[in-house]
Amino acid sequence: MPIFDAGLILRIQQSNDIVDVIGEHLALKRKGREMIGLCPFHEDHRPSFNVNPSKQIFKCFACGAGGDVVKFIQMRENLSFPQALHRLADRAGIKVEPLRPKKSNIEHQESGIEVDPNAIARANAWAAKYFAVNLAHPEIGKAARKYVAERQLSDESVKNWQIGLAVGTSNDLLAAARQKKIPDKLLMAAGLIVGSGLSLSDKFVNRLMFTIADPTGKIIAFGGRTLTGEGAKYINSPTTALFDKSNALFGLDQARHKIVSSDVAVVVEGYTDCIMSHQFGVSNVVATLGTSFTSGHARILRRYAKKVVLLFDSDTAGLEAANRALQVALSSRIDIGIASVPQGKDPCDFLLAKGKEPFEKLITQATDVFAFKWDRLKASLGSQPTIAGKKQAVEEYLDAIAAAINAGNVSPIERGLIVNNLSRIMSLDTKEINRELIHRTGRVKTASSYTASADASHTPLDTGVGLSAIAQSEILEVLLAHPSMFDDAKDKISPDDFDVPAFRQVAQAVFTTLAGQPRAALQIICSAVEDPRIAGLMTTLEHEGSNKGNYSKRLIDALAALQQAKNQKNRASKEDLIRDISKQDRRNIGLI
Ligand SMILES: [Zn+2]
Repeated sequence: MPIFDAGLILRIQQSNDIVDVIGEHLALKRKGREMIGLCPFHEDHRPSFNVNPSKQIFKCFACGAGGDVVKFIQMRENLSFPQALHRLADRAGIKVEPLRPKKSNIEHQESGIEVDPNAIARANAWAAKYFAVNLAHPEIGKAARKYVAERQLSDESVKNWQIGLAVGTSNDLLAAARQKKIPDKLLMAAGLIVGSGLSLSDKFVNRLMFTIADPTGKIIAFGGRTLTGEGAKYINSPTTALFDKSNALFGLDQARHKIVSSDVAVVVEGYTDCIMSHQFGVSNVVATLGTSFTSGHARILRRYAKKVVLLFDSDTAGLEAANRALQVALSSRIDIGIASVPQGKDPCDFLLAKGKEPFEKLITQATDVFAFKWDRLKASLGSQPTIAGKKQAVEEYLDAIAAAINAGNVSPIERGLIVNNLSRIMSLDTKEINRELIHRTGRVKTASSYTASADASHTPLDTGVGLSAIAQSEILEVLLAHPSMFDDAKDKISPDDFDVPAFRQVAQAVFTTLAGQPRAALQIICSAVEDPRIAGLMTTLEHEGSNKGNYSKRLIDALAALQQAKNQKNRASKEDLIRDISKQDRRNIGLI
């Protein structure tokens, strides 16, 4: 049962202008009729990435990535085709049937209500408004507003970050929600209430409420800071269908544009640290939610930035944190810098005391995590550079790196880069380091051991060799660049005539789309395929086709060549058949 029919896909595609959407992820500059930028899908040093506003297509001329707006989101956010469609439908405010996991009828009846992530998000949005109204209330919000003022959070920040208040009665939100006919089960699924049966109560009581959103701004959870000193200082929403704290970052929705344009993401530890950074105009800052920085966080930030700076309160920045960060840096293949705020302050205090420039200086002067670990180790071994001391430091350091490498599926190329880096930091010969590392990590892992789904989209497609493959590619080039030629081809061949699998997939999309919609643009044909690699191939073929022109003659020649190749194949298989039969005959003769 397809949730997305072709009409809906087109509506979603057309409601999300590709320049706007891509512009939210990378800096684009106008060049003639196109927009160009640095490709986010390969290590790009000159702008190879083109966005064509009139065709609504993107194309990288270096790595071959290409397609429509849906393919971009699929690749960029590492989403499936339906997930990317959902994301873009949300962005454009188009209502789509929820993606439901298949459930048996019994389960369905037992749960009573579908725990639909979109419904949870709506309940959260309602709760955020409710909390905000509480905080603004002249009487109810008075004490909390005093706290906010003491922390020097501006009115604008309170509004931008949807800060609110959970009041002191334990069923306040529950009662308000019931009045609004919001089902208890939904509040439970959203983590807004706790308990069971008749003893239900609010999860957050007497707390200043911080709203946690996903990168698109959808509210996925809350964090609450105690206003009375009772209980934990901070509590978060529990894990729900929308929220997992080890994979969520506070403030990413507000920070991601600046993260993309600066290529650096700064990670702090607290809500107010993050909000205060933005309040001071440093807006590439996000916060972890009471957990240390994980590889899940790194994977998310890698979509937006090349480098992450972890900014610790000085008392927590230690070797412990550096060790974990080292492991994350290696396993997530992202540069990590470590910085700490001096004199036992947290970033929020530091900003208020010193201002923006010194804060930015802390960030730009962050130490690469490898060097950080090495420096700390040397320091801990004392200032006397004895040979024994140095040897111990080297051993301990390489042990830590080896453990991180073993945990992180590091390819030989990356390993080479790491060794060069270590050689520079430790002033030791690369050969020596390599020998020591190999000794510690056991067998060198091959590059193929890293097969994250995001990277599968980068493995090149096999487009075949020989005359038949060239003919297939020519035909598709012509049809994609000049769809009106379809009339000259449709009766002569079918997608089954394309025996190169990648070309056959392109042909299937071309033939079905153009049969129903003659002269459909590339963007529309593109929406008929789910695999971004096939879309990339399509955009390459279309580009080649437009450059070569001469459509009619090329189509005729290619059709003839393909026909010839087909005849040859038929002949060959007939000969094979005859040979087989005659072999059998011989056997038969032998039997007789
Ligand atoms: Zn590229």
